[in-house]
Amino acid sequence: MIAFTRLRLSGFKSFVDATELLIEPGMTGVVGPNGCGKSNLIEALRWVMGETSARQMRGGEMDDVIFGGTSNRPARNLAEVSVGLDNSKRSAPPQYDIDELEVIRRIERGQGSAYRVNGKDVRARDVQLLFADASTGARSSGLVSQGRVGALINAKPAERRGLLEEAAGISGLYSRRHEAELR
Ligand code: ATP
Ligand code: MG
Repeated sequence: MIAFTRLRLSGFKSFVDATELLIEPGMTGVVGPNGCGKSNLIEALRWVMGETSARQMRGGEMDDVIFGGTSNRPARNLAEVSVGLDNSKRSAPPQYDIDELEVIRRIERGQGSAYRVNGKDVRARDVQLLFADASTGARSSGLVSQGRVGALINAKPAERRGLLEEAAGISGLYSRRHEAELR
């Protein structure tokens, strides 16, 4: 498992101003009144790990993650989320042979998303594989949203097997095999 060390948001949903949160080892709690942005933070993590479904982000289209304006602040045209990762245990794929990683995703209105890892442009797929190999990711069972617990109880055996494979850290290999077979 790869550890998150910090999360930076700018123009993402309700986080219009640049915001940085340090994520210390151990347990982190996010508390605050209804509508203050707790779920938006978790969605920022999901998004920077390569989420492709706008619906998973509670939006109609991906541009909806960009700050849409309020009565006293204009909308933005750019959103950016950056996550710092502790790779000292080398949980990421071997090409990332460095202790600290920074993954950045940005989206421009009407232009789609772009990703960078430690300053280098990469594909969405590379980011998704990085997190899949580290046994996490946008669709990982580590992110449990409302309704998921019931869905797991009712899951078919094949779906449960997927969870075990993810916990064992081999789901990245399956993704690669699938990609190779498509070529
Ligand atoms: P609860 O305790 O009810 O679960 P929460 O802390 O999880 O609340 P969120 O759902 O994260 O709150 O935040 C909701 C707020 O984010 C709403 O006020 C909504 O208007 C705002 N919001 C969501 N998307 C955008 C956007 N694109 N631009 C501006 N504000 C947005
Ligand atoms: Mg919420």
